[in-house]
Amino acid sequence: MKTLTLNNGNTIPQFGLGTWKSKPGEVKNAVKYALSIGYKHIDCAAIYGNETEVGEALKESFADNVVQREDIFITSKLWNNRHKKDDVVLGLKQTLKDLELDYLDLYLIHWPVAFKPEVIFPEDASGVLSLSEVPLIETWQGMEQAVNQGLVKNIGVSNFSIKKIDNIISNCSIKPAMNQVECHPYLQQDELLASCQQNDIVLTAYSPLGSKDRPDSLKQKNEPTLLENEVIKNIAEKYQVTTAQILIKWAIERGTVVIPKSVSPERIKQNFEAQNINLDTEDMEQIKTLNRNYRYVDGSFFAIPNSCYTVESIWG
Ligand code: NDP
Repeated sequence: MKTLTLNNGNTIPQFGLGTWKSKPGEVKNAVKYALSIGYKHIDCAAIYGNETEVGEALKESFADNVVQREDIFITSKLWNNRHKKDDVVLGLKQTLKDLELDYLDLYLIHWPVAFKPEVIFPEDASGVLSLSEVPLIETWQGMEQAVNQGLVKNIGVSNFSIKKIDNIISNCSIKPAMNQVECHPYLQQDELLASCQQNDIVLTAYSPLGSKDRPDSLKQKNEPTLLENEVIKNIAEKYQVTTAQILIKWAIERGTVVIPKSVSPERIKQNFEAQNINLDTEDMEQIKTLNRNYRYVDGSFFAIPNSCYTVESIWG
């Protein structure tokens, strides 16, 4: 599997397994199966509510000698209610306990949005903290402490704009190694990708297949279906592969990390095999024309009425 080099010289496997919405009862087998066929990178987060079961899958895979800890790359993410400097390591330690690991390979600030420590998801504006109350740079200092304590090898951010990353870079001791954002042919993120590349920050493409298993409450009416796009379908036919495989290989071809989620063994394998497809310049040119700046994960769920967060402020 191809790897990308991070700005501190460490490497990250370019392809991994997503675990958002992978239910307890499903995710353990999904992770075990993925590791058994060669996946080296699992993308987790505390808020997915399934890290304990991912931890069981890791423990059993190590015990059965399917993989060794040092040969795989585990990412997790700090939830919004752990943004205060001294809460970051607490959040990370809970994740390490759940995953049954001594260290993470990568820890990300999940969203540039802060909640009160006792609130998992606010019902109204009283549950949020503004970025003046808990500046992102304070959270970043907590992330740096986690590195200094040997709890994580690499740190980064997720859902951060160019402006928010620039602010971290200007004020940090350890530069972010990663920005994990939504990225696929309908949201190609050219400007953000170029800025990250200039700053030697790797971009991970999340929801690369269009995240069709999101809860209905997070979906727009009549949203475009990436997996059924005609241009992607034609390219898939040309190579006798699936549209999902074209989407995955497109992300790899652009130099991003890609983390499609699946709990189906057949699709976990199919997605893995996408790495072997060779897209040509014409395919890439055709896919380039599909951009429509369309977000499936649009952040509107954090635009809590009367709070300081709006969709514009989250992405700005
Ligand atoms: P994806 O774009 O990966 O799509 C997942 C959906 O596609 C599921 O319904 C899955 O079903 C289906 N699927 C998987 N493989 C195939 C295939 N070969 N053919 C057809 N359908 C397929 O969505 P996600 O939003 O889950 O994004 C991927 C990962 O990115 C997340 O799981 C998470 O780890 C990360 N992420 C991070 C975010 C952040 O804020 N940092 C936000 C969103 C995602 P099935 O399981 O049944 O195969």
